[in-house]
Amino acid sequence: MVGSKVLETYLKENLQDLKSRGLYNVIDPVEGPNGPVINIAGRELINLSSNNYLGLATHPRLIDACIEATKKYGAGAGAVRTINGTLDIHVKLEEKLAQFKHTEAAIAYQSGFNCNMAAISAVMDKNDAILSDELNHASIIDGCRLSKAKIIRYNHSDMDDLRAKAKEAKESGLYKKIMVITDGVFSMDGDIAKLPDILEIAEEFDLITYVDDAHGSGVLGNGAGTVKHFGLSDRVDFQIGTLSKAIGVVGGYVAGKKDLIDWLKVRSRPFLFSTAVTPGAVAACIEAIDMLMNSSELINQLWENGNYLKKGLKNLGFDIGESETPITPCIIGDEVSTQEFSKKLYEAGVYAKAIVFPTVPRGTGRVRNMPTAAHTKEMLDKALDIYEKVGKEMGII
Ligand code: PMP
Repeated sequence: MVGSKVLETYLKENLQDLKSRGLYNVIDPVEGPNGPVINIAGRELINLSSNNYLGLATHPRLIDACIEATKKYGAGAGAVRTINGTLDIHVKLEEKLAQFKHTEAAIAYQSGFNCNMAAISAVMDKNDAILSDELNHASIIDGCRLSKAKIIRYNHSDMDDLRAKAKEAKESGLYKKIMVITDGVFSMDGDIAKLPDILEIAEEFDLITYVDDAHGSGVLGNGAGTVKHFGLSDRVDFQIGTLSKAIGVVGGYVAGKKDLIDWLKVRSRPFLFSTAVTPGAVAACIEAIDMLMNSSELINQLWENGNYLKKGLKNLGFDIGESETPITPCIIGDEVSTQEFSKKLYEAGVYAKAIVFPTVPRGTGRVRNMPTAAHTKEMLDKALDIYEKVGKEMGII
């Protein structure tokens, strides 16, 4: 095939550059379910890299719900939500989400990523400003950019910096609306946003509050998330969540006041212009939320496993950062060593992906461990043995 020469040179040079700097991400297809143990290239590996926190992605109840709904409604929803892609189960899911999050209403999207693209730009525009934590997720950054609002980054979880920037923005008189956006749980470090302080600042300067709780939902607040964990459910304007992590399926959502959700239904572009989530996925999400609202067993198991792995890695001498949740980074530092560490873990039987720039700042490369409720103690012990062996071999511990 003959294509553009300019593109060909651009891609060749840039791919080579990424590879030489250890920044090229190789994708290893998983041959089977994404459970606590996975098969890659014919080998069995302990999986410490999925977001399937509660093990629900492979839970029989979700699988059955997915099959039943697929038989009843078909494989696809057939249209965008605002034409005739809204099936009764989409509505049921949104009602459940509102219950789960303790809000008046909720709206579901195709993914957490497109939920952030949808929700921020539906409310904020070029006359507005957004105060955004410097470590916020890529989808928040892109959602902010899409809105054309002025983006003001504050230092990670630095409340003095947030307060000063909120005051300056408010007193400048330049902006019609000002929003503060934060992750609920920061995905690369596992620390929790200081929501009570953020809310206090927000109330002082009349800021719109937006919490993306992709990693807190199903994990904190007895499953309801970081906002509930702090008892702030009636004070946060936007509660964002994903259905792809603890819930184990796919999709994203906003939970909040009825007027906000009504507005998003008529103004958020992915809701208007992208086909609705498949019936099977929707039914599996409903099943998962029902399970979480009726039992804390999986959540407790997740925390037990998270604490066990964390303690084990810390005792071995790894730098596990300041995580307050089951997310457990092993911070290595430079990109090339981080990739090598992850590769050696892989060869020894642990799948723990290297996370490097641009996902985290340069020089803070890490192997991020995501223990789940589905891991057994034996699996975690085996993983710890491998960590010890590889860590010593590379002189990291
Ligand atoms: N927000 C945050 C904070 C995330 O960590 C992620 C997941 N990578 C997303 C949004 C995107 O969610 P999804 O995978 O459902 O698109």
